[in-house]
Amino acid sequence: MSEKIALMAEGLVKSYGRVHALRGVDLEVRRGEILGYLGPNGAGKTTTVRCLLDLIRPDEGTVRVLGLDPQADPVAVRARTGYLPGELQLDPNLTAQGALQYFNALRGNQVDWGFVHQLVERLDLPLKRPLKNLSHGNKQKVGVVQALMHRPELILLDEPTLGLDPLMQQEVYRLLREAQAHGATIFFSSHIMGEVETLAERVAIIRQGAIVEVAETSSLINRALRRAKIRFREAVDVDSLANVPGVTILSRNETIVILQVEGAMDELIKALASFPVSDFETERPSLEEIFLAYYEGDPKEE
Ligand code: ATP
Repeated sequence: MSEKIALMAEGLVKSYGRVHALRGVDLEVRRGEILGYLGPNGAGKTTTVRCLLDLIRPDEGTVRVLGLDPQADPVAVRARTGYLPGELQLDPNLTAQGALQYFNALRGNQVDWGFVHQLVERLDLPLKRPLKNLSHGNKQKVGVVQALMHRPELILLDEPTLGLDPLMQQEVYRLLREAQAHGATIFFSSHIMGEVETLAERVAIIRQGAIVEVAETSSLINRALRRAKIRFREAVDVDSLANVPGVTILSRNETIVILQVEGAMDELIKALASFPVSDFETERPSLEEIFLAYYEGDPKEE
């Protein structure tokens, strides 16, 4: 495996009885990048992450984490990775402090408590109360801190900001960007498109147990269809615009035309140079709309 790849899965297949959760997942996460993993409920995101860390065994396929085989070297892989599971199960009578001490002990008592306390303060996590008395968001913060506290090289997160308020979400984004600036690679699943759009340089989309798209987040958005609304100072004949490559006229009246544009805008802008344009508005589709387009007509999980 290349030094440049932090995480690699090839042909991952996993079934739970009759449920085919993964049907041949191929994935590469480059060192130092933040990759967002998108897919609707039941698409196979959690199953993928569990196979990557050898928390469950795939039926078929190969995994390499930081160049290691997690089935052969599970301890080395765990030591160098941080993992936030979707549902972190901890003794409810432990305090957050106790839980973090427990994770530190599991990791050989090597964490820098100064760094842990910075994380705790920035996330405003109450340390002294039993976990059973914490809100869902505060429990989630325990999960985030334990995933980051040993400054791992690779961080895998299953919905990192689930249950966090917007201020805390932003703080988690900052923490993840800082981890990346220190060299970490981050792979996270999410249902929040804004989160993926702001954090992830690339996205992988999984549908019914197979990857259907891996792309730079910006190129996914840029190559999608946009809408352009053009207002003219006087009545014009816009028929010729329909001949511009990638342009479809959606509606028009004498002084306003609404177009759908596929790909770059430059041809349209050149064509408009000879028109008396008074206003030009474009609407960029959100990642959410692009994502939904991949799933239109998808059967719901039973
Ligand atoms: P979500 O967004 O809801 O967390 P996901 O993309 O993480 O979904 P998985 O949890 O990986 O999806 O589930 C993939 C499929 O496998 C689903 O159909 C799910 O019902 C099934 N599944 C997951 N875990 C088990 C299990 N332990 N036993 C049986 N079926 C399971």
